[in-house]
Amino acid sequence: MMLWCYFMVVFTNPGAVPENWRHAAEEDVNPPSTSEEQGHAPRYCARCQNGKPPRCHHCSVCDRCVLKMDHHCVWVVNCVGARNYKYFLLFLVYTFLETVLDTLVLLPSFIIFFHDGSRRPSSAGDIAILFLAFVLNLAFALSLLCFICMHTSLVASNTTSIEVYERKKTCSWEYDLGWRKNLEQVFGTNKLLWFLPMYCTEDLQNIPTIQGLEFPTRSDAVL
Ligand SMILES: [Zn+2]
Ligand SMILES: [Zn+2]
Repeated sequence: MMLWCYFMVVFTNPGAVPENWRHAAEEDVNPPSTSEEQGHAPRYCARCQNGKPPRCHHCSVCDRCVLKMDHHCVWVVNCVGARNYKYFLLFLVYTFLETVLDTLVLLPSFIIFFHDGSRRPSSAGDIAILFLAFVLNLAFALSLLCFICMHTSLVASNTTSIEVYERKKTCSWEYDLGWRKNLEQVFGTNKLLWFLPMYCTEDLQNIPTIQGLEFPTRSDAVL
């Protein structure tokens, strides 16, 4: 599961902006654009020379615009965006479980290492491998746990890592649809597929967030 999720994050395009993309409000020139009045002025990326959909950001490492960009991840050599965010979260969860399992399996040998000298592994190499494997797995498990907690709160409030600072400036985050709907925006509506790095066809068609070009907003949002 860990490797499946990993390769899905690496090889899934996080979301590219279609060529000559324009905000729907830009095409309505005559009536005053309500979205513009509400602070949604059409954005443009000078580097890509293309329109910038909402929540899209230019990644300086990939040198391209990424839809609903979360961050550029060096571990997966790819950006994490609208279309691979779920796979990235599952990769975190499965790697966490894997490192916890390793830590628990190594724990008895680690305790023997410190308490019972007569039953220690024979060679210095065995001792070094045991010690390193235990400490590294424990360190990875703890840091992944912090990362998972952080992303759980981001998913629950429908915010990306980049938008955290933006969100602090507003009293009501317009993309926050309530935690249940926010969860569906990332993981899809089919609960059987929540733990697999894939979406059903209906979700791909019906959830605009996964496509990354349009995002449902709270109708009562105070902007
Ligand atoms: Zn760009
Ligand atoms: Zn990138």
